Amino acid sequence: MILDLFGLKGKVAIVTGSNTGLGQGICRAFAEAGAKVVGVSRRPSDETKEMIGEAFHNVIADLSSCEVIPSIVEETVAKFGRVDILVNNAGIIKRQDSLEFSEENWDTVLNVNLKTVFFLTQAVARRFVEQGTGGKIINIASMLSYQGGIRVPSYTASKSAIRGITMTLSNEWAKYGINVNGIAPGYMATNNTEQLRQDGERSADILARIPAGRWGTPADLEGAAVFLASAASDYVNGFTLAVDGGWLGR
Ligand code: NAP
Repeated sequence: MILDLFGLKGKVAIVTGSNTGLGQGICRAFAEAGAKVVGVSRRPSDETKEMIGEAFHNVIADLSSCEVIPSIVEETVAKFGRVDILVNNAGIIKRQDSLEFSEENWDTVLNVNLKTVFFLTQAVARRFVEQGTGGKIINIASMLSYQGGIRVPSYTASKSAIRGITMTLSNEWAKYGINVNGIAPGYMATNNTEQLRQDGERSADILARIPAGRWGTPADLEGAAVFLASAASDYVNGFTLAVDGGWLGR
């Protein structure tokens, strides 16, 4: 039955940034599809735990440094016995005119959005190879994986690079049965866009350009995430799928 291909029963997923926004929605959707979920977050993911219950385990870690990576993988295996899916969702954005943009705003964003993503992905892929099971990696990209944006140079650099390494890693790891893909959310109503949504003019400009006529929500991303985490996407490799209400096509 075709819908069985989308099920995640028996799978174990790691989702970063599990306390709020898009990451919380992905955790909830994976659990509903049958997976056990390890959510990684800086602040406790208590609300997510309440939504999901026993199938959810929270690892507290600050992803601005790679030091936390071994313990994330070890704790996942200790709790649920294996790893099958990784969603690199945690991400930050710093807005400042490029003429004034600080080195700190550059490094902070690149560390969380790119460096830790690469090395966590490497650690999980090593585990997939060791298990001999293959696996699924989903990188949360952005419209700014395709476009330049305004006043967000480090964010655009990180998200363009995420789309690039999604292809690189896919080229190297497809032979192990590892699917590496990305999801590029459009403009979604979460903490990440709060500042933007409070700027009346920018907010109205953005809304006017979205063909679907509304900002996205975490629920809008869930179907694409479950698809890319499941056997239904076994022959999808290295692609970053836009979930954007039509933004990129405009
Ligand atoms: P969000 O509500 O701000 O969530 C970001 C998540 O990342 C939070 O869980 C946050 O934890 C976590 N995080 C940030 N820095 C961290 C660190 N150093 N260590 C551990 N966790 C950290 O934003 P969101 O919209 O759900 O964003 C999720 C992903 O989607 C991000 O990669 C973002 O770039 C991407 N995205 C969002 C949009 C959008 O329109 N919202 C569009 C395109 C792409 P704290 O709550 O503790 O900070």
